[in-house]
Amino acid sequence: MGDAYSAGVTGVRVRFAPSPTGALHLGSALTGVANFLFARRAGGEFVLRVDDTDPERSNRRYERTIRQDAEWLGLRFDEGPDEGGPYGPYRQSERMPIYLQHAERLVAAGIAYRSEGAIVFRVPIRDVVIEDAARGDVRVAAGATSDFVITRADGSATYHLASTVDDALMEITHVIRGEDHLTNTARHLLLAEALGLRAPRYAHTALLVSEEGTKLSKREGAPSLAELRGEGYPPEALLNYLAELACPALADGISLLGRLAQAFELRSISRGQSRFDYGRLDWLSQQHLKRLNPLELARRVGQVLELRGIAVHPAQISAIAGGLGGCRTLVEAADEAEVVLVPPRVRGAVDEIASAVITRFRQLREGWPDPFLSPEDADTLIAELKADLGGSGLSSRDVLHGLRVTLTGRERGIALRYVVAGIERSDALSREAA
Ligand code: GLU
Repeated sequence: MGDAYSAGVTGVRVRFAPSPTGALHLGSALTGVANFLFARRAGGEFVLRVDDTDPERSNRRYERTIRQDAEWLGLRFDEGPDEGGPYGPYRQSERMPIYLQHAERLVAAGIAYRSEGAIVFRVPIRDVVIEDAARGDVRVAAGATSDFVITRADGSATYHLASTVDDALMEITHVIRGEDHLTNTARHLLLAEALGLRAPRYAHTALLVSEEGTKLSKREGAPSLAELRGEGYPPEALLNYLAELACPALADGISLLGRLAQAFELRSISRGQSRFDYGRLDWLSQQHLKRLNPLELARRVGQVLELRGIAVHPAQISAIAGGLGGCRTLVEAADEAEVVLVPPRVRGAVDEIASAVITRFRQLREGWPDPFLSPEDADTLIAELKADLGGSGLSSRDVLHGLRVTLTGRERGIALRYVVAGIERSDALSREAA
């Protein structure tokens, strides 16, 4: 199949349509990313539509956090409740009269009927074929869906009606969403047909499952985007990872937004199953952190430290940024930085060797007036230390180990040259394990 639905499609309009009933979870973020990349690829519009038809469960606070999380990830909306745009309002709760009009039309035409105050769509008994841009034709059998409510007794519209009407009125050209929506899509196609509305082109993504293969649902502890951010994954890595999950062909090294959008194709959208894999996310995260310039890495690590109540100047962190390149997350990088930049609270046991090492180290460090050393100066200092103590019979290993333990209180950590470089002179002169 030629991919007429990716490159070169003009007038593409897609939407991200979260229900503001909780935090932005991964499955939802994945479809957001897929739609956004597709819009970018086609030079089209990306619309934020808030699916708040359920007044009981919808909450403005969730709308805000979902938006913040999506924007943190790098998604940018061309239209939406805050952006405005020619197809507004963009909150479904503000569009109820439009939906009711459509429902009444169906009642008048005998295609929908009233039942206990609700309006119910009469589903014709026939198969529905979805021309899925990723999977080809998907047949949803007659009987898979029975008559369904389109407006409730309280006069509000349900998701099915609101979504179908809005996709048409907002001139949405493509809808990318999870395959758990396949029967909904069948319903929406029938509704659109009955209303004489144009239906968008659909593509369904594979369902995201947990590492154990179980469905990733909010209830089963699927990490929300906010949780993953809290774990220190940078947004570039998550964007990259979600893009790969949506479109496995994108899993080729690491990519930033531009390249992801360039390579995104509807026909390559995931089928089968997408398995959430922390190992892959860790790898991507590590690679993305590695390519940040030292100042930017330092700025982000500084933010994490600030949340811990530790104020460190980014310049100070950037002195050791070269040593943080192996970290998988910003939290890990902040842990390493904290060890160097903040005197240890818990002190390692110091033996005779370590005590000889720290004594000599202090004498040598005193000879360097700079508050911080460059990594190269730190190398020189460490070499001198090894040479001096080697004379009194200490092995290199003893010296390095003794120095690390006395300075950081830990057995392991970032390369010692960065520890020596990043500890401020006055701190270095007084830092010593008890
Ligand atoms: N509000 C729906 C959801 O969050 C939107 C699904 C859709 O139509 O794309 O699942």
